[in-house]
Amino acid sequence: MKHPLKPFHMGFKAKARKHRSDAGEDTEKKDAKKSKEGEIPCGIRDCSKYADKNMGGRSLSIDNAIETWGDSGYDARKGRVRVCKSCYRKWKKDNKSDDMY
Ligand SMILES: [Zn+2]
Repeated sequence: MKHPLKPFHMGFKAKARKHRSDAGEDTEKKDAKKSKEGEIPCGIRDCSKYADKNMGGRSLSIDNAIETWGDSGYDARKGRVRVCKSCYRKWKKDNKSDDMY
């Protein structure tokens, strides 16, 4: 399932808009409070939340991420894609199947 030379960024940019309402502040106040800001950014490009474990973040395999967000809708690290809680939920909805906690 490959799309030959599709100008993908245009589509993704448009889609990204609706999520990006307030993503202004991330660098400045590192030592303010640990509860609000995480250290691991969500790997989904549409998303500006955090994927830290203590914030409900999860890591998906690249294959899993592609199924839900497409070839270039995510950033992978070391073969995994870290996702925030809400992205994980979204993925889980898309993949109603295996595990239930
Ligand atoms: Zn996310």
